Amino acid sequence: MGDQIPMLATVTAVRLLTPRMARITVVSDELQRFGYDGPDQLVRIFVPNGITDELTLPVTTAWWPELNEMPEASRPVLRNYTVRRLDRASGELDIDFVLHGHGATAGPGSSWAGQARPGDKIGLLSDGADYLPPVDTEWVLLVGDESALPAIAVILEQSPDDLPVVTLLEVEDASDELPLAGSGSVQWLHRGSGPRNEIALSTLRSMDLPGGTPYVWTAGEAGLATGVRRHLVGERGISKDRIYFCGYWRAAAAEPDDQ
Ligand SMILES: Cc1cc2nc3c(=O)[nH]c(=O)nc-3n(C[C@H](O)[C@H](O)[C@H](O)COP(=O)(O)OP(=O)(O)OC[C@H]3O[C@@H](n4cnc5c(N)ncnc54)[C@H](O)[C@@H]3O)c2cc1C
Repeated sequence: MGDQIPMLATVTAVRLLTPRMARITVVSDELQRFGYDGPDQLVRIFVPNGITDELTLPVTTAWWPELNEMPEASRPVLRNYTVRRLDRASGELDIDFVLHGHGATAGPGSSWAGQARPGDKIGLLSDGADYLPPVDTEWVLLVGDESALPAIAVILEQSPDDLPVVTLLEVEDASDELPLAGSGSVQWLHRGSGPRNEIALSTLRSMDLPGGTPYVWTAGEAGLATGVRRHLVGERGISKDRIYFCGYWRAAAAEPDDQ
């Protein structure tokens, strides 16, 4: 589980970037030791569990067994997010949270972000990054949904100017769009009330892709990431080892028909 220890941070600012995305800035003296490995840097967050507002964090690098041994009443909720910005000099870190679901359907990560106020506490743990185009990469394809937008934004910011990057981002509508570096090659796809992942996958299937050796990074709802990989490997002949894919979350299965 790596050599990091969870650290305590305090919310200093909450800003709605879009109606469904909140940027939360936190500060911590401990960010000096926050590991940063790449643009899709994973930050595991620990937030209060709803039973108590107290936040009790594991205190060793064996944080996972420690977490599981905590009594349920005090065990924090753990969720995965992306570091949108890390400034060790000022001790600040930004995370962009998708605000999804309402009431009973809202998960603890989204609910915490939706209610966060300056002064609130959160636990953070750095846990690696995956975006790593091999040196022979001639162009990059990025495909994601709202949950992958923070990682894609950082990947675009950090990409060298001479590396062509084709980006497909599926979101609900135009209000979810954000300014992105190198956005000339970004296609925003609006699902509207249509099914998730369909417009991203159908656009990809009908696209002319550049020639040369690609590197692909795709993340978002699990069916999107696996659908992108299946298409590229099966129908475009792209080698599996040129593709990073990750289900960032999984859509709940539809309720069975009530009959
Ligand atoms: C490496 C990695 C990096 C990630 N980075 C980010 C990030 O920077 N920003 C971000 O917002 N998310 C990010 N995610 C996704 C995030 O971890 C999930 O969306 C997570 O499920 C949110 O937790 P929750 O407590 O809000 O919902 P959960 O308790 O996990 O789920 C509750 C319900 O909400 C649904 N749900 C979960 N996420 C979404 C969603 N995005 N849209 C619609 N419905 C959803 C689930 O299907 C479930 O029915 C990342 C995931 C990974 C693995």
